[in-house]
Amino acid sequence: MQNAEPQPRSAALIEGSGHLLQLLRHRGAQTITELAAEMDVSRSTVIQRLDFLGEAHIVESSVAAALGRGRPAAVYQFNPRAGLVLAVQVGLTGCRVAVTDLLGDVLSNELVSVDFARGAAVLLDTLTDTFDAMVTALDRPNSEVVGIGVGIPSVVELQNYARNLGTDVQSWDRNLFRTVLRARYDAPVFLDLDVNLLARAEWRMSWSSVEVCVCVKLGTLIDAAIVVHGNPVRGASGLAGELGHIKVSGTNTACSCGGFGCLDTVASGDALVQELKASGMDVSHVSEVVALANNGDPRAIRSVREAGRRIGEALSSVVNLLNPSVIIAWGYLTDADTSLFAGIREGLYQKALPGSSEDVQLVKTKLGALAGVRGAALLVLDEVLDADALDRMLLTQSWSQASPNPVGTFA
Ligand SMILES: [Zn+2]
Repeated sequence: MQNAEPQPRSAALIEGSGHLLQLLRHRGAQTITELAAEMDVSRSTVIQRLDFLGEAHIVESSVAAALGRGRPAAVYQFNPRAGLVLAVQVGLTGCRVAVTDLLGDVLSNELVSVDFARGAAVLLDTLTDTFDAMVTALDRPNSEVVGIGVGIPSVVELQNYARNLGTDVQSWDRNLFRTVLRARYDAPVFLDLDVNLLARAEWRMSWSSVEVCVCVKLGTLIDAAIVVHGNPVRGASGLAGELGHIKVSGTNTACSCGGFGCLDTVASGDALVQELKASGMDVSHVSEVVALANNGDPRAIRSVREAGRRIGEALSSVVNLLNPSVIIAWGYLTDADTSLFAGIREGLYQKALPGSSEDVQLVKTKLGALAGVRGAALLVLDEVLDADALDRMLLTQSWSQASPNPVGTFA
């Protein structure tokens, strides 16, 4: 940037460059004078740090229009086109695969059908082929990948799926995602539960001023994430948010978790399909139930509303304990939001403390099908663009070496 020659590298010289990038990311374009004042260092130190960041193309400069009679000053800004993030939300029936820039904005995405029963290795082959094709279609090399974010279903979901197929969930080695993808792209891999990732994205994009938000996934099964100050709560065993396995009254049906009378057995998409099938209706997927409800079928409307009421009852404990500002609903069932939300409100008002249930906002996802991959990309960016991680990247000139042991969310 300032000099064409590569800069000599030492940790002492580079230290502080990551912090400078944070300033540019959060405050927008700045001049050298502004950066020197903000960081309380000399102009020459700022220029040196800008040179390191410029060599990595992660900062670019332009000339701002002159104010008054002074010479126009160069301004420096974060360049979100300097790298790519690969993101995937692994679902039991399909994977949403995306490539994003360094802001987490989706450059391209695709829904890839997968056969979970064939195991993780086969799925990884499909994923890497898809990632490669998408990166190539963007006319970018794989070497621009700075990190990979993977959202995966919960253990209970996997067990349920495996049980239905009569297969073994143990063949699902999550570490395989880390080792295979890391080796392929020479970039760090970060995993989290898909529900945590979509909650992270919804919070960041729309609700970053609230202290507590709850995100419920209402699909084939029911799951939830609790986000406090932007961070998903995981719990001692990573099992926080298992809303689908809260016991509800009036049922004793066996659940995939091994228990009886769980919310999943009466209010999940899967339960609705079973219920309507038993009453003689020809449905095989929750999306068909939702379509019937939206077309005015009274049985489907009644079932969806009753499921909502059950979900609201289960959520009432969550609302009483945490007093969230917002409950964000995501998943197939939310396409029937009129009936569903009426039911959820009914359940909440019946069971939760009036002060809490009246104040909580109940909303549909704003990011829709892309929430999971947006969250996966944000997880990657939070880690690799962290000030210390970025200093390490500039020193080693490798995204992979800068994050040698990505913090896992799973044991
Ligand atoms: Zn259960």
